[in-house]
Amino acid sequence: MEKIVIVGSGCAGWTAAIYAARSNLSPLVLTGLTPGGLLTTTSTVENYPGFPEGVDGYELMAGMQKQAERFGARVKTMQSLEAADLSQRPFHLTVDGEKVEAQTVIIATGASHRHLGLESERLLEKKGVTYCATCDGAWPIFRNQTLVVVGGGDSACEEALYLTRFASEVRLIHRRDTLRASRIMAGRVLSHEKIKPVWDTAVMEILDCKQDKVTGVRLKNLKTGAESVLPCAGVFVAIGHVPNTQLFKGVLDMDENGYLLPRKGTATNIPGVFVAGDCADRVYRQAITAAGSGCAAAIDAERFLALQGG
Ligand code: NAP
Repeated sequence: MEKIVIVGSGCAGWTAAIYAARSNLSPLVLTGLTPGGLLTTTSTVENYPGFPEGVDGYELMAGMQKQAERFGARVKTMQSLEAADLSQRPFHLTVDGEKVEAQTVIIATGASHRHLGLESERLLEKKGVTYCATCDGAWPIFRNQTLVVVGGGDSACEEALYLTRFASEVRLIHRRDTLRASRIMAGRVLSHEKIKPVWDTAVMEILDCKQDKVTGVRLKNLKTGAESVLPCAGVFVAIGHVPNTQLFKGVLDMDENGYLLPRKGTATNIPGVFVAGDCADRVYRQAITAAGSGCAAAIDAERFLALQGG
């Protein structure tokens, strides 16, 4: 019987693990589909306090894991969490066919990249369509080519800036005429000689499924309705995220977009189940806020166990 099972190994999950482990609760961390979470797919994290020169996202997460393990956290790498029976305590989780019993569960499952929803996007994924410049940007097919980034938030700006290392030019396609990104990121993007924004524009199709590789995008200006084709070798989609909470639909309170809704602190509608990080945060979604909520969830779970005499 586990005292605390933490589902997810991003900033929120590891911070919860550090706190729970330091309380001698020997937490079990189930690593998600992306061990280390989305931060492992980013380049330099410049806004995590304590790193004046920035820190590599992967290194930051590896350090958090090491820190959690040093205090006694245990890690189980899983393909998938198949089922979570939260109807009574102890809770029963099914992980790769194995049963795990838990007195408390902290859900820190994070979020996944949102897709444009185009058929051509699906067919050309990994053939020039990607969701991670840090992971895929250095591919030879992208070198000295025109690359397209879709989106207007911090992620899109970060992708565009990263891709300037490889691309001949980066076209940033955004559906409005102002960026949602923070001022510092927007400023860097708009002043970069290799990045050219394309405002008020939607991607209607990614070309060319017949050739089985990306050769361009068919665009529509949302103000004038004019359509055009922009030749490019790669499309990097950075249009936000979808919380990984499908498994808890109908069980845990969530909003219409799937973000979990805690009731008090990090506690959910089911006593003994707590939430942390991006799966429950539609507002801030920062590494530091995820870490903070992971800390809070571990403290809430520890107090819950103490009240139960656990
Ligand atoms: P975001 O802030 O939600 O931005 C998503 C962008 O994609 C918006 O510009 C949005 O357009 C656009 N978009 C959404 N759905 C679309 C669709 N179907 N078609 C076309 N465009 C679409 O997401 P994010 O950039 O991933 O950032 C998420 C959070 O992480 C934010 O809080 C951000 O500050 C943080 N973050 C921070 C950093 C950093 O500090 N360095 C880096 C990455 C992320 P609209 O603007 O019209 O809504």
